[in-house]
Amino acid sequence: MLIDAHCHAHALDEEVLRRVENRIILIAVSEDLESSLKTLSLIEKFENIMPFIGVHPWSLEEITQQEIDDVVTLIERREDVKGIGEVGLDGRRRNREKQMEVFKIFCKLSAEYDLPMNIHARDAWMEVLEVLRRMDVESAIIHWYNGPLEMLEEIRESGYMITINPAARIQPKHREVIGKAPIDMILTESDGPYEYRGLSLRPDMVADLIKLIAEVKGVMVEDVEEAIEFNFRRLFR
Ligand SMILES: [Zn+2]
Repeated sequence: MLIDAHCHAHALDEEVLRRVENRIILIAVSEDLESSLKTLSLIEKFENIMPFIGVHPWSLEEITQQEIDDVVTLIERREDVKGIGEVGLDGRRRNREKQMEVFKIFCKLSAEYDLPMNIHARDAWMEVLEVLRRMDVESAIIHWYNGPLEMLEEIRESGYMITINPAARIQPKHREVIGKAPIDMILTESDGPYEYRGLSLRPDMVADLIKLIAEVKGVMVEDVEEAIEFNFRRLFR
């Protein structure tokens, strides 16, 4: 099976999800209470979905405290929640204190319930890593990693992984990450549905992405595919 380790499945057409059902396992992330509930409802219809729920740092401007509390309660009570995300910090947004407060709540839940995290860390790469380590989070993916290359080793030594996005085709920095990151810390993702500089990011693009990773690393496509599936299983320990 191929892996899309970060996708907003609740926002995709069911027809698109049906097309990849037998080929790709999806880690389905959520951004707020409504999308968390939608993500959880998808597991009744699709067998390839791992529901992750949480509050995205971009959602904090509109969300009420009650909704945040309700997402927390879902994580505490529902056994079918497989992980926490999309949560994290965004260095380009101003509400840093609020972001940190909420991110720490989710880190604590991750450590307490032993749930992997799926993290947004744009321009807050180092801060995110520091918080994860300080809060004893054991399993996490930093998604669409475009942070400093020198940080990769520290992320790996902490037991965390990164995802690579199909945008690597047009994002030279992201291709450098593929070259530098050891294969045992890499997962593939689409972040779909998302429009990025002319690319319509969707789960079925991970097949091509695996080819790109193999090309950049100079290894066999089958070996990349196998390594990524293995990494995915390790994420859930
Ligand atoms: Zn996302």
